[in-house]
Amino acid sequence: MKRIAVFTSGGDAPGMNAHIRAVERAADKRGLEVIGIIGGYSGMIAGHFEILDRARTANTIDRGGTILKTSRCPDFFEPDGRIMAAEQLRAHGIDGVVACGGDGTFHGAHALWTEHGVRIVGTPGTIDNDLAGTDFTIGYDTAINTAAQAIDKIRDTAESHGRLFFIEVMGRHAGFIALDVGIACGAEYVAVPETLTDIDELYQRIVSQGLDKRTVVIVGEGDELGGALGISQKLEERYGVPSKVSILGHVQRGGSPTVRDRVLASRLGAAAVDALLQGHTDVMIGQMGNDVSYVPLEQTWTERKPIPAYLSELSTLLV
Ligand code: ADP
Repeated sequence: MKRIAVFTSGGDAPGMNAHIRAVERAADKRGLEVIGIIGGYSGMIAGHFEILDRARTANTIDRGGTILKTSRCPDFFEPDGRIMAAEQLRAHGIDGVVACGGDGTFHGAHALWTEHGVRIVGTPGTIDNDLAGTDFTIGYDTAINTAAQAIDKIRDTAESHGRLFFIEVMGRHAGFIALDVGIACGAEYVAVPETLTDIDELYQRIVSQGLDKRTVVIVGEGDELGGALGISQKLEERYGVPSKVSILGHVQRGGSPTVRDRVLASRLGAAAVDALLQGHTDVMIGQMGNDVSYVPLEQTWTERKPIPAYLSELSTLLV
């Protein structure tokens, strides 16, 4: 193996730059040349490749977003798109690829391996933390800290104005962000996609205890009642209780990565390079406990990552 490539794809996440930097540095130390693919699978198909070196990745470790850009690429869902991408990789003499993204990105990577024999490993770059086979994903720690700061600020106005706020955090399919920030911010109720939200129970817990005049409720965006807006409307319809809604949205994706994210991203970048050198392919490089994990890409979407028991138990006890 002489030349490898790295790219970022799907939703961007803080820590991706630390990851790219680590791949470049680790590969250089192992005597490999590194190509950066610009713009995810779209760039792979179009042949937007550039050589990465120390200078290119210097002073990027503290930056959010991704210096390699990212994309959603409809053409990659088509076999023809993947044929063009595999041809580009071959034409550029690329022997192995590191794909940083979420389960969509891993679907594409799996197809590149099975259909074209491209040696490829995935690394978990998504703020949602919803990939089975790794305790944490790159970007998650920054996202929950960003959300917690915003929620603390909203609580100031909830307390001062005597209002009830429903604050929606990201997580279409998973309630990790909502549960973690719910505990960290002392929320009085947390609604997540994994469990059914009961408006009557919410009313009992919040309003009948007089907390509706000064509290925040955290809602994962995938909650089945329609996110924060849906719950707010249902509470008003059924009980005439007014509330404010705040949707944190994309602010959770950006910003300088936390130390935890930088270290995780760096570790997984170095481990991904070594994994390619050791002959791994079609696996995600994650972290379980203190160890690097090697999980078949397919497992990251066929297996649902459970909410850790301690998080649910703590939430039941304290929230
Ligand atoms: P994420 O990687 O963050 O989950 P997406 O779901 O948007 O983000 O996926 C990123 C890209 O991966 C898509 O735009 C598409 O190009 C590619 N992709 C996703 N699913 C598949 C699939 N089933 N087959 C081939 N490529 C896919």
